[in-house]
Amino acid sequence: MTVLDVRRVAKVYGEGEAAVHALRGVSLSVEQGDYVAIMGSSGSGKSTLMNILGCLDVPSSGQYLLDGVDVSRLNDRQLALVRNRRIGFIFQSFNLIPRTTALANVELPLAYAGVKPALRRRRARAALDMVGLADRADHEPNQLSGGQQQRVAVARALVTEPALLLADEPTGNLDSRSTEDILTIFDQLSAAGRTILIITHEPDVSARAKRLVKLFDGQISSDVRQVVAA
Ligand code: ADP
Ligand code: MG
Repeated sequence: MTVLDVRRVAKVYGEGEAAVHALRGVSLSVEQGDYVAIMGSSGSGKSTLMNILGCLDVPSSGQYLLDGVDVSRLNDRQLALVRNRRIGFIFQSFNLIPRTTALANVELPLAYAGVKPALRRRRARAALDMVGLADRADHEPNQLSGGQQQRVAVARALVTEPALLLADEPTGNLDSRSTEDILTIFDQLSAAGRTILIITHEPDVSARAKRLVKLFDGQISSDVRQVVAA
């Protein structure tokens, strides 16, 4: 099944003389269970593509189907629903809510989705357990290391069982040990059939993905399957 179907997507910022063509006809199809790394130099259009894939922005032209739904033409409220239901986000800077326990942070997307408190708690505990942090459920972000905070963020991204996990430089702020922890979790999620898309500058990180897509000047310059380094 195709989770992500991007068809000739273009994105132009500004207009006239000042127009910036951030994406120039990107087509990309990702099947369920694939693990894709996106690389490209600064300014190549990675964040623009990520924002569109994550339904944080819409293309100027072209089509984007997520889980079979054409999201190119949805309004803001509909996009917010798609984000909550179908996408798990992981950011470089963790983006946890301060002075709020790990458990409550992980419960949050379920609260938005209207899941009842008891079920919410149970699912959040299971997600924390999956990232090896069951014993830190009552800790607040400032009582956790960077690597632990990012694992909480992974649990939060997973807890809604999204169709797509979208990670923008998830290891950019982590030391090598914590990077390995996160990559091991991604390996496990991939083996369990999750669909993962990760933006990274680090060759050690992209090497773990099953597929490597390179962006250059707003276009895909290469798209290859790779032998996964264990
Ligand atoms: P990357 O994430 O690969 O560094 P971006 O997607 O951020 O690339 O940017 C692609 C191009 O679009 C760059 O030339 C950038 O300056 C431009 N750009 C990105 N966002 C905006 C914006 N909101 N307004 C105008 N230009 C933008
Ligand atoms: Mg960027």
